[in-house]
Amino acid sequence: MRDSRYDILFTPIQIGPVTAKNRFFQVPHCNGMGHAMPLAHAAMREVKAEGGWAVISTEECEIHPSGDVSPYVEARLWDDRDIPALALMCERVHAHGALAAVELTHNGPTASNLFSREVLIAPSHQPSKYGYPSQARAMDKCDIANYRRWHREAAIRGMRAGMDIVYVYAAHDLSLAMHFLQRRRNQRTDEYGGSLENRVRLLREVLIDTKEAVGHRCGVALRFATEELLGPEGVELSEAREIVGMLAELPDLWDVNIAAWYNDSVPSRFAPEGAQEPFIDFVKKTTSKPVVGVGRFTSPDTMVSQLRRGVLDMIGAARPSIADPFLPRKIEEGRIDDIRECIGCNLCVSGDNTITPIRCTQNPSMGEEWRKGWHPERIATKTAKDDARVLVVGGGPAGLEAARALGQRGYEVHLAESRKELGGRVSREARLPGLAEWARVRDWRLGQIRKLPQVNLYLDSAMSADDVLAFGAQHVVLATGCHWRRDGYGRSHGLGIASFRDNPRVFTPDDLMDERWPSGRVVIYDDDYFYTGSVIAEALRKRGCEVVYVTPDDTIASWSSNTLDYRHIQRRLAKLEVECVVSHSIVDYRDSTLQLEHVWNGKPQSLHCDAIVSITARLPNDALYHALREREAEWQDAGIHSIDGIGDALAPGLIAHAVYAGHRYAQELGVPREGGVPFKRHFHVGE
Ligand code: ADP
Ligand code: SF4
Repeated sequence: MRDSRYDILFTPIQIGPVTAKNRFFQVPHCNGMGHAMPLAHAAMREVKAEGGWAVISTEECEIHPSGDVSPYVEARLWDDRDIPALALMCERVHAHGALAAVELTHNGPTASNLFSREVLIAPSHQPSKYGYPSQARAMDKCDIANYRRWHREAAIRGMRAGMDIVYVYAAHDLSLAMHFLQRRRNQRTDEYGGSLENRVRLLREVLIDTKEAVGHRCGVALRFATEELLGPEGVELSEAREIVGMLAELPDLWDVNIAAWYNDSVPSRFAPEGAQEPFIDFVKKTTSKPVVGVGRFTSPDTMVSQLRRGVLDMIGAARPSIADPFLPRKIEEGRIDDIRECIGCNLCVSGDNTITPIRCTQNPSMGEEWRKGWHPERIATKTAKDDARVLVVGGGPAGLEAARALGQRGYEVHLAESRKELGGRVSREARLPGLAEWARVRDWRLGQIRKLPQVNLYLDSAMSADDVLAFGAQHVVLATGCHWRRDGYGRSHGLGIASFRDNPRVFTPDDLMDERWPSGRVVIYDDDYFYTGSVIAEALRKRGCEVVYVTPDDTIASWSSNTLDYRHIQRRLAKLEVECVVSHSIVDYRDSTLQLEHVWNGKPQSLHCDAIVSITARLPNDALYHALREREAEWQDAGIHSIDGIGDALAPGLIAHAVYAGHRYAQELGVPREGGVPFKRHFHVGE
């Protein structure tokens, strides 16, 4: 059972009229399901309650159609018809002894109203936040009164749904209560603008309203951003100290962080565990009320230290609870090694930003709890009469997850890896700058596999078609990965780049990961648009190369805005003095002269460079698959029932795709396939 040094994490704590059973608080997090997929949403939250979190919160919850954040899909309490969806979540969360919380918000100028077509409202006239071609109008006194009334009514609806904690939200630059605090958004000259006292007025009023409306039954939490890193235009630490002092005892709980979201949920590449401490540690010294904060906490020792040193009273978590919904239970049961630690890749965030159900690199069941009935800890065991042996070829994320989950199901598994180390791309990429934590994808799986005697691992074991046919497995899974193309083929060069072929100055990321590095002035050609280009740029700068980053896209690493990496990448490349040339494609590369062309006006440009790292597209390592397909006639004699390719060996993607593919293979082996759509969907009929 649990180590006594973690006891402090399991002491109950009072939040207004309710009591949290321990110190683990799943703070609000978006999930791309929200009000549109209430069954999926409730099931996802339930699994976390089952995993031991004392408080489970919704994501932000719209209180009124004039604060509609479409196309993003968050929670909603516009009127009574929205209550049942959240009541379902409360019922599921309560079934496991956890408290349910709702994060009420009106997004003001950071809403879109694209769905409701209402006019946006804000403290003062201003453009809407996300570049929608519209402006928000300044709220008059009547609007302020209405906003307070909507918030009160939503709080009561939340309480009727069964919520135990109701949030007032003043964080992330996503709520009117915060917008009134910000000088850049509030230029009012009445009693709601100007002095700090005036700018805090509305937040204080909304807190008092909420306490009056639901405070007898619900804890009232204040989510508050102490710093926006925008200088005097935003909330600054110096002012935040005063604000916390002014409101110290008003909320029943302080949930504190830094804004905006990209500064809060910073990818591991740009901030370590507990990075927010210098911005929030003053809060506990200013209030007697419990304080919760986040920091991508996955280490129980760090958590204990936060409590013992008086930084926090409760350990807040979004990403660690996504990667491991059972994190508290594992600490409680003394199973520290079983914790599936978040790697800080922020793929979970991309679900919200692409308006699709949340997914997680580490936890393939995230978002699939209801759709596919997957659970992060449990999996159906194989049937007793199924005594098949499975051969997994390739020990990257796909192969390791397939082997682990098949082993968990009770299958005899043999995994052959050609290299001398396991982990495939994860091991290789984790050696690049900033990506060390990604190795957790490998380490957690290896730790689990070590506990499964029926899973056998073989290193230094390249498998040929003859080897596979001779192995004596009934099922063969080819998880042999992929490699970067060398021919320039990609989104912008459908016919490739002729002068790349057989050109010794052209490198791929695989060359670099195999320790074959270019030197001198190196061009990175990024036709991939995610993280690889900027990571390689960092690696090359570290080795003393001069780096020019060329991309046919109109900006660097455009897809990384979905994972909140974007701004951090731009800043890092600027700091490293990497020269960026956007909107240019490659025409020719000969000797040391690179010919470019502007993608919009065709204007030529030439650059001197000693080498190019080509980051355009990848190809599956599928030679073994095809060799075995060609010998299908021999399968029966070899006792083989099935051969499947998964992960990057089927179609190159993200690490998350590979883990998901491995998990899916294991879930589906030996289970009769039904026709039709392989997951549940929400159907909206009638009202
Ligand atoms: P994925 O992301 O799909 O898991 P990776 O590239 O990370 O793919 O992992 C694939 C792994 O398969 C690599 O470690 C590679 O060395 C290994 N591999 C590739 N071909 C073979 C083979 N024929 N026999 C054994 N291992 C192989
Ligand atoms: Fe952590 Fe990545 Fe999972 Fe998000 S997707 S919870 S960052 S491992």
